[in-house]
Formats: sequence, structure tokens, C-alpha cells
Amino acid sequence: MKTAFVNGKIRTVDRNNSVAEAMLVADGKIEALGSTAEIRRLAGGAGRETDLAGCHVLPAFIDTHLHMMDHGIYGLRTADLYPARSVEDVVRLMQEYLTERQIPEGQWLEGFGWDQDLYPGTRFPTCRDLDRVSLSHPIMITRRCGTICSANSLAMKLAGIDRHTPDPAGGEIRKDVEGEPDGVMLESAMSLIGGIVPKLKDKETIKEILSYSARDLVRHGILVAHTEDFMSVGDKKTLMEAYLELQEEGRMPMHLVLQLRIHKPGDLASFFEFGCKSWETFGRIKIGPIKFLGDGSLGAWTAGLNEPYDDNPGERGLVYYNLEELKSLVATVVKNDFDLTIHSIGDRSTQLFLEACLVNNEEIRRKGFRPSVIHSQIMNPKIFELYRQTGAIAIVQPMYVHSDWKIADARVGRRMEHSYCFRKMRDAGIPMAAGSDLPIESVNPFHAIQVSVTRKDLEGQPEGGWYPEEKLDRLEALKLHTVYGAGVSFDENRYGSLEPEKQANFILVSDDLFAVEEDKIKDIRVLATYLDGEPVYTA
Ligand SMILES: [Zn+2]
Repeated sequence: MKTAFVNGKIRTVDRNNSVAEAMLVADGKIEALGSTAEIRRLAGGAGRETDLAGCHVLPAFIDTHLHMMDHGIYGLRTADLYPARSVEDVVRLMQEYLTERQIPEGQWLEGFGWDQDLYPGTRFPTCRDLDRVSLSHPIMITRRCGTICSANSLAMKLAGIDRHTPDPAGGEIRKDVEGEPDGVMLESAMSLIGGIVPKLKDKETIKEILSYSARDLVRHGILVAHTEDFMSVGDKKTLMEAYLELQEEGRMPMHLVLQLRIHKPGDLASFFEFGCKSWETFGRIKIGPIKFLGDGSLGAWTAGLNEPYDDNPGERGLVYYNLEELKSLVATVVKNDFDLTIHSIGDRSTQLFLEACLVNNEEIRRKGFRPSVIHSQIMNPKIFELYRQTGAIAIVQPMYVHSDWKIADARVGRRMEHSYCFRKMRDAGIPMAAGSDLPIESVNPFHAIQVSVTRKDLEGQPEGGWYPEEKLDRLEALKLHTVYGAGVSFDENRYGSLEPEKQANFILVSDDLFAVEEDKIKDIRVLATYLDGEPVYTA
């Protein structure tokens, strides 16, 4: 079956950044691009014709790091705390949620998206506040960063947390002046609460949540999602079955790359037992790399740095593994035919991981793997060199510029010269791709592209841009979400640009990304999303 798409403005994102008027699609693949007359001639009157009526066309987007399960859980089963502007608001929103949903006593009540930086006196919500919502429901509310939570008294009781509970490594159970835990759990302490919230095990519920997220992604023009979900469910096999069943039932209108998250090296066996390996493909579902945490976050001073924080001189953050441990972890993973990716924000953490990859470089190359670093925010010249030596990929989050520019200078001072430095990284030839980290940041790629191009947040701050020398041009910014993303999963010959032989995965959009004013890029809307030449979403 052939379809001729004619009279459009098709931005191919090929080597020459060429724009075509028309495109011939046969069996889901692009056969040719050219003028409307040329494509009509090639089609020879056979098949269908779709008039694009002057519409702007882009390759469909690729998001190389997000969390589909968490996004769906937050969307469908969690109180939305983003609108709160005070602790009072947090309490009210939780009360409203409890009343609306009529959640039975004893069941967990969860909220997401609070941010004390927006509240008077930057006060954290504590167990005292949450006890006013309910004493008979355990409550856990997660900060917008996803690495800090507050719990009520019942939740702490169920977790066995009292004044004698020691802080876990890499975390803190915050205490009040009397030495009693006040409900706030920082970083790894969060898992003391999160770990006892019953995880989803029911396959149908998991499928409903995944398909909710898939619909949302397709609406934003995203047709490839590298998703990390295995920590968000109670059973890994059930999740794997859920992905595959959704695909069989025609309810997964996109490509998935599965990032296989482990909590500790002991969890590796559960993935090795699957009997598959990285980059194996099942229809549109691809097994991705093993993923683990290297460090914490900049917001909580837990990103692992080589030198102390500028605004907290006693603190260097944390790394979960030393070099010896990383070397053996990398070797084990690669030996078992899995690729690797790490959550790493600080320079110490990234450097250690890349050094461990370098030690194992021969084996990694022999297997044809491409390790990657998710975030890679705080860098140094040595890390640039390690990227060159290992060929590792940096999976960056342009939206973190939007969220972090107000705190990062205070945290790392002079180190900003090599941090969030997307232009320098590109110029150094580091392979890069963009991820949103949904639900932590907006998944809308036009938001991220505007931030990459302007180096301002979406409110237009700071004036002139934050480290404006790191601005990307529009084409480079777009490539982070398209062709460069395809390379992360070895799919550069399948999708990511609109060229002959590639899949016809494209979007119709409301405006010309290359002509609108810089601060209007975020307003570009997706009008339709096509997978293999067929519409899977229409506005
Ligand atoms: Zn993430």
C-alpha cells in the first residue's frame, strides 16, 4: 500500500537539513521525497494521496529517558500537588483528593509535585501537617524532584521509623528540635517509606497505566520512549508481559526501549533470568541497558562531586559505588550481554563510571555496546576526555536548565564552566541525546527545544540566557530529540529523520520551528502523529 503525502513543508533533518514538499510512503517506509509533481509521478496514480495543505512536518520525537509507569501512576492514582503554593494548599489538596476518591481507611494515600521553594518560609510539609489529612490512611507525598518525601505518623509507624532509627547511607530521616522524626525523608531515606507502599502487581492495572502514558506521549509527537519502569511495579515478569500484550493488542502505538533498573547488584540476576539481552527486539519493543544510580541530586546536595559544594563546604554529595565496585559491576553486566546506563549528576560519579567503562572498554566494544550517562550535568575536562576514550553517550535533560538555573551557580560555582554545557559537549563531539525524565519535567519536546535554544526558563528568565554561550541552534536542539536519540538504541538507520528506507514516523505541527520567534517555540502544537505512515493521533 502506497501513500503520497503532498503539498507539505517536510523538514527531513537529513544531512543537508533539506525541506521537501512531498513524500511517498510504501508499507510504512519512506520510498522517496521530492516535489509534489515528482512524488505524484512516482506514485503513478496508485494508492492513496494525503494533502498536507501547506502543513509543517517534522520527524517524530524520541525521548531517551522517562518513566511511563510513574507518569501514569501520578496521572491516575496520585494527588497532584503542583498547584500548591503553601503547606496549607498541600493539606487541602490531599483532603480533597481523599474525599473525591473515597479511599478506604488503611489504604495508602499518595501525592506528588510539592516544592517548598514556592512556599512561605520555604517550609517543608511534615507529618504534623499530613496527620491533619488522615490518621487512618498511611500518607506519602513526594517532592517534585522525586528524591524527597514527607510521610504522616501512620506511614512512619508502618515503616518502623522512630527517634532511634539510624539514617541510611546516602539519606537522612529529618528530626525536629526534640529529636523526633518530622516525616521528611531525604534521598535514600525516602525508600524506607516508598519501600513499604504496596507496588502494583495487577497486570491489567499496569497495562491501563502504560497505555494512558503512551497516549500522552503520542499526543506530544513522541514515538520512541526509553522508559524506566521496573522499580515501579511489584513484579518484573508481569511488567514485561504487560508491554508485550499491549503491543499484541494494538494498544501500544509507539516504540519502547526498556531501561532495566536495578536497585543493587543483587537485582541483576532477575534480568539475566529473562533469557534475553540488550538490544534484542520484540516487534516495536527493544530491551535496553541495565540502569543503576550513581549518585543523588543537586537540589539535595547529594550529587557526587570531586570537591565540596560551594554553598555547603562540608559536603561532597554521595556516590553509590567506588571505582572497584563499578569496575566489577560493569564487567558483570557486559559479560552477561547487557549494555549499561547510569543516573549520574555530579562530576565524581560520572568520572568513576566512565573510568570503569574505560577499564572494560575492549569487552564493551567487542559486544558493540554504547554505554550512556543519564543527566551528566556537572562535568570537568577529564570527563570530556573520558567520553572521547569510551565513546559513551550523554543523555541530557534540556529542561533541567529551566529548573536548575536558579540553584546551580550557588551549588557548584566555578564548575559551571563545564556544567549543563550542551554546546561545549557537542563541539567536543560527545554523542548526545535528550530525555525529559517525565514525570519530573515536562515531556513536551518543544519546551525543551526552546530552553536549549534560548538558555532561559519557559518564563523567559534569566534575561539574555543562562551561560548563553551554551545555546544550541534550532537544528542541533531538534536533533537531540530525533536523529541523535535514534543512535542510543542503534536505530539510526530506522528512524529519527525522514529519508528513504526509514520508517515514516512523523508529525504535523502548527508552526515552523525554524521561523517562529524563539520564545514562541514552546507554543508549537502537534496536530497529528504518524507511525509507519498511519495516523496514531489527530488533534
Ligand atoms: Zn529518571
